[in-house]
Formats: sequence, structure tokens, C-alpha cells
Amino acid sequence: MTERTFSILKPDATRRNLTGQINAVIEAAGLRIVAQKRIHLTDAQAKKFYEVHKDRPFYGELVGQMTAEPVVVQVLEGENAVAAYRDVMGATNPKDAADGTIRKLFALSIGENSVHGSDSQDNAAIEIAQFFTDAEIVG
Ligand code: ATP
Ligand code: MG
Repeated sequence: MTERTFSILKPDATRRNLTGQINAVIEAAGLRIVAQKRIHLTDAQAKKFYEVHKDRPFYGELVGQMTAEPVVVQVLEGENAVAAYRDVMGATNPKDAADGTIRKLFALSIGENSVHGSDSQDNAAIEIAQFFTDAEIVG
């Protein structure tokens, strides 16, 4: 089933000029980038986005990292896009990520792990709506 997921190329990726290389892996996996923009997340945006983790010990560090440099927010479209993107992202900790995954190829650490991808269709819809209007998404 064709669906959409939400992606962020995180500050460790923009800082190292890796957005094109990561997009190439995304596209090679059969996902289409149907919306994309480079923005600098505000503290309020990052806190809202990661609110689910607000009681975790790494929350402050996470918000700090996500607001330190620009990010690229994206909408990806394809067959089972949520699961397909999670597969190509690889495990949260790059030490556990499979060969060929974005995090295995590029991530620096469990915190600076280069990409975010939605974990469910419900969250994908919520996250896409936080950053894109319908008119900005062009399949
Ligand atoms: P994301 O939500 O960014 O796609 P994920 O779903 O693989 O990643 P989550 O458990 O949702 O992982 O954690 C969200 C983010 O918080 C991770 O991507 C990572 O940047 C950071 N994070 C998670 N666990 C840790 C940790 N133990 N120490 C530092 N940062 C962490
Ligand atoms: Mg997550």
C-alpha cells in the first residue's frame, strides 16, 4: 500500500554535508521525496516534536542537538513507507545497525544518529502536519 512517512535529516548530517548522500540511499530504497525543506528548528518545535521522550534522561541533550544546526524535514512516499524507511534507517544505535543502512553508513552515535523516521502511520500524519501544508507535498 502506498503511504507517507515523515523524515528528518538531523544536524549531524547537515553539519557534515551528507544530505545528498542520505537522499541517494532513501531514493535507492524506492522511497520518493515528495516534500523537503531545510529549516532551523526552534527550541519550542524540538520540544514539541520529542514530547513523548520528555521524561527520558537524554531529552535535554536531544533537544539541544536538534536545535544546534539546521535540519532537513521531508515527506517520503512509497510502498509501506513507514516500515520501509525504518528498515533503511537502521537501528537507533549505529552499533546495532545493519550493513547498508543510513545509520550504519553515517551515524556518529545513538544520539547523533543522522535521521529520524516516523514509527507508525498515525505518528507520520501528526508529524507531517507539524511541518508541511498539503500544498507543499507534491507527489
Ligand atoms: P527517531 O525517533 O529519531 O527516528 P528512533 O525511533 O530510532 O529514532 P527513539 O527511541 O524514538 O529512536 O529515540 C528518539 C531519538 O532520541 C533517537 O533517534 C536518538 O537521537 C535519541 N536517543 C534515543 N535513545 C538515546 C540514548 N540512550 N542516548 C542519547 N540519545 C538517545
Ligand atoms: Mg522514534
